[in-house]
Amino acid sequence: MSIKVCKFGGTSMADGNIMKRVAQIVTADEKRRYVVVSAPGKRFGGDIKVTDLLYQCYKQAQAGELSAFDETFSKIRNRFLYIEKEIDKNLGLDGLLNDIKEKILAGESEDYCASRGEYLAANIMASVLDIPFVDATEFIRFNQDGLLDESTYELGASLLKKYPRAVIPGFYGLDANGKIKTFSRGGGDISGAIVANAVAAELYENWTDVSGFFACDPRIVQNPKCISSLSYQELRELSYMGANVLHSEAIFPVRVAGIPIRICNTFRPEDAGTFIVPKVTGVDLDTPVTGIAGKKDFTVISIEKSMMNAEIGFTMRLLSVLDRYGVSFEHLPSGIDTISLVIDNEYLQNGLLEKLVQEIKETVHPDIVHIHEDIALVATVGHGMKQNVGTSARLFKALSEAGINVQMIDQGSSELNIIVGVDGKDCENCINAIYHEFF
Ligand code: ADP
Ligand code: ASP
Ligand code: MG
Repeated sequence: MSIKVCKFGGTSMADGNIMKRVAQIVTADEKRRYVVVSAPGKRFGGDIKVTDLLYQCYKQAQAGELSAFDETFSKIRNRFLYIEKEIDKNLGLDGLLNDIKEKILAGESEDYCASRGEYLAANIMASVLDIPFVDATEFIRFNQDGLLDESTYELGASLLKKYPRAVIPGFYGLDANGKIKTFSRGGGDISGAIVANAVAAELYENWTDVSGFFACDPRIVQNPKCISSLSYQELRELSYMGANVLHSEAIFPVRVAGIPIRICNTFRPEDAGTFIVPKVTGVDLDTPVTGIAGKKDFTVISIEKSMMNAEIGFTMRLLSVLDRYGVSFEHLPSGIDTISLVIDNEYLQNGLLEKLVQEIKETVHPDIVHIHEDIALVATVGHGMKQNVGTSARLFKALSEAGINVQMIDQGSSELNIIVGVDGKDCENCINAIYHEFF
């Protein structure tokens, strides 16, 4: 029988009643045999995700702030014990929580600590569904470089063959030393995609709190259009650039196996949702743009030097500076006498920007170096842009009419996206202006 893998995010695990609703969704389709879950998320505005509480506990334990630690850990305990009561089962969660608390206080790692939300949620869901719990540590493996180890897929395939149905915690696996290691935040989506690959699923369903992938972030534009289908490539561009409804790395495990993804709403399961497929068929010429996404906190280092274009090895020497400091760049737009490095601020902490600029000056002897801090990148993405003359003219006209100053432009070589750099404060306005031009 063909298989669907369902991943349920934090809001779908938020309390016991929602977990019961999740069980109804799973049992409504007998193909839904593998369930991957996140830790309980927010129940209401202002609530704190269990994962955030766990990170807080780790910090407090490390700092020896024991009464603050106890207070935070109690919040976690109360949430889980309340869920246990709501689902009306005795799972012995209190004992499990005591054991976790002891381990954190004894110095277990941050990743161990963060992973316990998914571990407990998966145990609860397995009991609600009355199917086995299979721990992600049994098959999800990271290599020495901290990347997903290829052995994961084979291990997962042979293990899960023994379980016709199972609940698996998302977000973590084991590192090369046998210790728990998590993916980056939101990484439960990657775990779900790995399971889909391992069991050769016909579909990877990602259940969340919105009815699909929207043309832009619904927290920025009210009621944006829901995209009925988009390609893996469009998804990758949009999620990487901030459309965090799906983790940007979740695409890889399913792409190699050609498994489509469906984004669905736990609170409106009847809605069609969005399909993410290897290739979109037929481009709608009236809407050249599929979606828009933005990400803040970049720095642009613009370098000018006369005759740069004729100086053999200039770019190589420039990039060798980044290499020496272990800094990666996001974009590298260039002109005849200019080149800009667009770098995520995460790399430029603790005075590294100043050191980097100094070394660039010493290495490539530019005429002028400009630094624009606090830049946001906004990507406009769509396969339809290739066929549509005038898409960029429309985009830049909309930005100029909205009074937005464009600091940088970059167009991907696949003509799938146009990226503009704007001041951080203009990010939301920029997304709004582009959205209303094309939708
Ligand atoms: P989960 O906890 O289910 O994994 P996330 O919070 O990770 O859910 O992702 C869902 C959220 O992503 C939505 O509530 C929405 O606010 C946000 N989001 C950002 N960009 C988009 C987009 N383009 N389409 C839909 N949702 C988006
Ligand atoms: N619970 C983790 C987080 O909050 C992972 C996930 O939800 O996918 O980031
Ligand atoms: Mg998520």
